[in-house]
Amino acid sequence: MKTDELREKYLDFFVSKGHTRRPSDVLVPRSDPSVLFTPAGMNQFKDHFLGRCKLDFTRATTCQKCLRTGDIENVGRTAYHHTFFEMLGNFSFGDYFKRDAIAWAWEFLTRKEWLGLDPERLSVTVYLDDDEAAEIWARDIKLPPAKIRRLDEDENFWPASAPSQGPDGVCGPCSEIYYHPAGGQSVEIWNLVFTQFNRVGTPPNNLRPLPSKNIDTGMGLERTAAVLQGVETNFHIDILRPIVAAAAEVCGLDYDPASDSGRRLRRITDHVRACTFAIHENVRPGANKENYVIRRLLRRAVLDGHQIGLREPFLHRLVPAVAEMMGKPYPELGETVERVASVIRDEEKRFFSSIDDGLARIESILKTIRRENRNEVLGREAADVYTTHGVPPELFESLAAEHNVAFDWEGFRREMEHHGVLSGGGVVVDVFSSDPLDGLAKVLPATRFLGYETSEAEAKVVALLARRELCDQVDELAHDEPVTVVLDQTPFYGESGGQVGDIGALVGGGVEFDVIDTQKQRGFVLHRGHLRRGQLKLGGVLTARVDTERRQGIRRAHSATHLLHFALQKHLGEHAQQQGSKVDRDWLRFDFRNPQAVTPAELATIEREVNERVALGAAIEWSELPIADARRAGAMMLFGEKYPDIVRMVSMGGFSRELCGGTHLDSTGQVGLFKIVGEESVAAGIRRITAHTGAAAVRTVQEQEALLRELSQLLKATPADLPQRVSAIMKEARELKKQAGAAPQAPQASVEQLLATAEDVGGTKLVVAEVPGANAGVLRQQIDQLRKKAAPIAVLLATREADKVLLVAGISRDLEAQGVSAIEWVRSPASVVGGSGGGRADMAQAGGKHPDRLPQALTEARDAARRLLAAGGRV
Ligand code: ATP
Ligand code: MG
Repeated sequence: MKTDELREKYLDFFVSKGHTRRPSDVLVPRSDPSVLFTPAGMNQFKDHFLGRCKLDFTRATTCQKCLRTGDIENVGRTAYHHTFFEMLGNFSFGDYFKRDAIAWAWEFLTRKEWLGLDPERLSVTVYLDDDEAAEIWARDIKLPPAKIRRLDEDENFWPASAPSQGPDGVCGPCSEIYYHPAGGQSVEIWNLVFTQFNRVGTPPNNLRPLPSKNIDTGMGLERTAAVLQGVETNFHIDILRPIVAAAAEVCGLDYDPASDSGRRLRRITDHVRACTFAIHENVRPGANKENYVIRRLLRRAVLDGHQIGLREPFLHRLVPAVAEMMGKPYPELGETVERVASVIRDEEKRFFSSIDDGLARIESILKTIRRENRNEVLGREAADVYTTHGVPPELFESLAAEHNVAFDWEGFRREMEHHGVLSGGGVVVDVFSSDPLDGLAKVLPATRFLGYETSEAEAKVVALLARRELCDQVDELAHDEPVTVVLDQTPFYGESGGQVGDIGALVGGGVEFDVIDTQKQRGFVLHRGHLRRGQLKLGGVLTARVDTERRQGIRRAHSATHLLHFALQKHLGEHAQQQGSKVDRDWLRFDFRNPQAVTPAELATIEREVNERVALGAAIEWSELPIADARRAGAMMLFGEKYPDIVRMVSMGGFSRELCGGTHLDSTGQVGLFKIVGEESVAAGIRRITAHTGAAAVRTVQEQEALLRELSQLLKATPADLPQRVSAIMKEARELKKQAGAAPQAPQASVEQLLATAEDVGGTKLVVAEVPGANAGVLRQQIDQLRKKAAPIAVLLATREADKVLLVAGISRDLEAQGVSAIEWVRSPASVVGGSGGGRADMAQAGGKHPDRLPQALTEARDAARRLLAAGGRV
C-alpha cells in the first residue's frame, strides 16, 4: 500500500467512526512556548484535553507533521527513526475511552478492507497496573497472554515515569502496538495513550481520576508504510526511497544500504526533508531555538556530504525531490521550492567555507586529547570550534564519540554563557509543564478581550501572580517586583502578532495599580505592573483603563503596517511578503522578502502610495469569518502561521485584507502621515523598513527640515543649492588633501640630489632646478628642507603642468636679513614665462603660461640671483 493511500485510509477509517478530520498543526507552534517543534499529534489539542475551549467535536483525527530533535542520533542508524515524520492520530475529548480505542485500532490494523495485517505478527504492551487495558486486549480482542506484555511506568506511561517523577497534571497509562516482520526487526507502530489521571504531588495515592477521560493515539505513518510495503527500513518506502536515490545521485554514489555512506545518505534524506518543511514555514537556520535546530540538522547533513567527498553545496538540490514526494498531502511545498533551496544554499555555502578548518581543528584537538591521555573534549575546546568555525557542538560530540572521547556539555554551556552566546538549542518536550499558568488553564476560561470596542471596562480579578506563584491577595508593601493580574475580561491588548502590549491602570476600591506591560499566554491576558496603593484581592472588581493616547499611536502604526504591506506588494511584487513586524506607538518595523535593497526611488513610491491611501480616508472594518471564506476573499495568509477556524479579517477600503488580531483605526485617514525613516537588511533576502506615523511622522519631517536649515546657514547656500555646494567643498577638500599628502610619498627629486647641483655664489649656495611632476606643496617642502640643510642658500624650483608653469623661490633667513627678497627674485624668471609672482620675502611663488620657455626662465633665475646677492652685499 502506498504511503499516500495509508494516510487517507487512516483518516477515512476514523471519520467512519464519527471523528472530525482536522488539518495538521504547523510544525513550529509559535503560540506554545513549551515546545520548539510540534512533537506529536496531540499538541494542537492541549486545550481540548483540558476542556478549556468550546468543543465543536469530541472526536478528532489528524495526520500531523512532527519533528523530534531527541531522535537525531538515531537517524540513519536505526531503521525506524526520523527527525521529521508524520503521525496519524485519533483523539477523544471526554468521549470514548479504552474499549473503543483498542477495538478500533485492532479493526483498522487487521481487517482486510483496511490494512489487513496478519494478527499473528502483532503484539502489544500495557502498563503494569493497567488491568483494564490488559483485559480488553485479552477478552475483547482475544490476544493470547504471550502477546500482552506488562511494562513499567518508564515505558508505558505518558509522560514517561509521571507517577513517581511528575510532572503534576494530566497523565495516563499507554498501550503500544508492535509489528514483528518475518525475520526482521520488531517495530512499535502505534501508541494508544489513555489520559485518565491528574497527578497531584508525590506517591502514594497521587493519581486522581479525571472526571472526563481522554484518548490520544499516535501511529507512525512511515513505520506503518514500511510494514505494509515489506521493506526493512522507513527510508525504503515509496515516498522516501526516491529522495535517498536523489541524494545518492547528487553525491555521485551508488546507494548501498549497508555501507557507511548508505547511512549518511539516509541521514541526508531525513535532514533535508526536515529542513525543507521548517524553512517552508519560515524557520531559517540561525543561532537560537528552532533556528538553531535547523542549522544543526542542515550542517550535520552537509558534514555527511563532506565526508563522502563533496566540496560544493549540494543539499539544496534535493529540495525539489522532497517537494515532489510530499506533494500530495502538502502541495504548498511546491510554491516555495526556490526560496527554500536558496536559504539552504546560503547556509551550505557559509558552512562549506569554514568546514575544512573546523575539521582540521577538531582533528588536532582529538590528537592532543590522545597525547594528554584525556578522555573528554573540554568545554573551552568545543566552544572555540563552534564560535570560530561554526561546527555545532553536537557534530563535534559525535565525531569525538567515534574516537571514544566524551564531550563536556556542562563545560561547553558554561563557556558559551561566558561568551554570552548560549544558543538555547534543546527542545522541551514537556507538554504539561508545572508553570502556574498551566494550572490556571485547567480551571479558568481564557480572558475575554474587549479592546476592539472599548478602552475602559469593569472587570473581576480572577488570578494574581507574585514571584511566579499564584496567590489570593497582594498588599501594597510587597510591590517591589512586578505583579501579574489576570482579569475575567479586559480592554488591555496583550502583546501578540507584533503589536506591543498596552499600558494603563487598574483602579477601584482604594486600589491603584500601574500596568507597565501586558502579555498574552495560554489564552490569558496578563497585566504586569506595580501596586501603588491598596490591596489586590481575588474576586475584587476593578476598572481597567488603557492609556488611550498611546493606544491610539499603536493603532495608527498598526493600520499603517497593513498599508505598507499592500504598497510593497503592489510596487515590488507579490514576493514581498511579511516576515515579521513590530508595532509600537507611532512607530513600526516591517520585515519582508526582497532579494535586494529597496532603491530610494522605490521607497519614495511606496511612501507616496501609503500616504495616498491615508488621504483616501478609506474605512477600516473587521469581521470574523470561517478561514475558507477569508481565503476566498483574498486575505493574505502566511505559511507556517497557524490560523483558527474562525479568523478575524481586517479590511481597508477594499484594497487590503489581512488576518489580524490587532487593534486598528476606523479610517486610514487617521494615520495622519506616514514617513519611512529607514531601510536595511536583516538577513539574506529579507529587508526591513522602519517608519513613523501621526505626530511622530510630523516630528521627523520637522527635525529634518531644521537640520536642512542649519546646514544652509552653515554652508551659506539655499537648501536647493546644498548638494552642489557640498560637492564643491568635498572636491576642494580632496584636492587639498592630495596636495598635502602627496609630498612625502612622491619626492620627484631628492633634496640631496638638488643640493648636489648647487653652485657657490660668494659663499651662498644657489640651487635652480626643474622638479618634474611636483606641485606647489612639494616644491615648498623641498625648499624648506634645503634651507635647513644648508645656509646661506637661495633656491628656486620649477615644475610644469600641461599648459602652465610654476615657480617657487625661497631664501634662508640670513639672506632675508640682508635685504634679499624672494618676491623680487621670482618675478624675473616669471616675466620670462609670462607671469608674475607674490608671497613673502623668504618664500614666493609665481605662475606662468609658457612652459616651453622654462629653460630660459631658469637661466634668468640664476642671473637674477647673482644680481640680488651682489646687491645684498654677498658678492
Ligand atoms: P520509539 O520508542 O520507537 O522512539 P516513541 O515511544 O518515542 O517511539 P511515541 O512518542 O509513542 O513514540 O509516538 C507515537 C508513534 O510515532 C510511535 O509509535 C511511532 O510509530 C511514531 N514515532 C515516534 N518517534 C518517531 C520517529 N522519530 N520517527 C518515526 N516515527 C516515530
Ligand atoms: Mg521515541
